[in-house]
Amino acid sequence: MLTSKGSHPELYGWQVVLRNPPQLIICEGEFDRLVLKSQGFSVVTSTSGAGTFREEWATALSSIQKIYICFDLDEAGQNGALRIGRMIPHSKIITLPEAVGKGGDVSDFFVRLERKKEDFLSLMKEAQTVPPQSPDALPVISYPPSKPKTVLKNRVQEIKDRFPIVHIARKYIRLRQSGDRFVGQCPFHNDRTPSLVIYSSSNTFHCFGCRKHGDMISFLMEIEGLGFVQALNLFDNLTCLLMIFSLLF
Ligand SMILES: [Zn+2]
Repeated sequence: MLTSKGSHPELYGWQVVLRNPPQLIICEGEFDRLVLKSQGFSVVTSTSGAGTFREEWATALSSIQKIYICFDLDEAGQNGALRIGRMIPHSKIITLPEAVGKGGDVSDFFVRLERKKEDFLSLMKEAQTVPPQSPDALPVISYPPSKPKTVLKNRVQEIKDRFPIVHIARKYIRLRQSGDRFVGQCPFHNDRTPSLVIYSSSNTFHCFGCRKHGDMISFLMEIEGLGFVQALNLFDNLTCLLMIFSLLF
């Protein structure tokens, strides 16, 4: 992962780039990345929207043979895709179908519309390159902060609010508290020193050994080998169980 301190954007999925996959998708946001990953795609995302995609990332990604960009079906998404498309000249832009709705995204495509991997592969076949133009000529787009949340995003947020990641991770690994962080041996690689850090404040984890990171949903997906939707369903089941227990006791 290429990171910088403070509120600067990060590239999520950097370990995928290091494996030099034959093809890579750049998508708009962590939910979309998880959904595409669960469909078996190599995928990265920037944490702060398309307008913040950095030149050095484009340079690093340029060695990958096939690059696809798939952003939200709205003006900001399309402009952001064009901007990256010009930074990586051989990349192709995937256009989502109108059925996802205005502002619709990859998660809408797979989860709400229940489209399959083959449907997305068809979209990839139709993807188009962008005519070259200097990226400097294009304005950096700042995303409106009040973009309406989809039902799926609300559902994910409810899970994040309800289940602290440390409670989930403790079921699998021994954790030692250090301030508002928890440290333990990473279950995702052969970890001899405790390299996994859980951040209570952001409800996320990061391994300084294998560089895996994410939230409690991606933790559960990774450790149990689940898809994104399966993990969400598991959390929903847990929520139901907790409600039953709270009624009984
Ligand atoms: Zn690790």
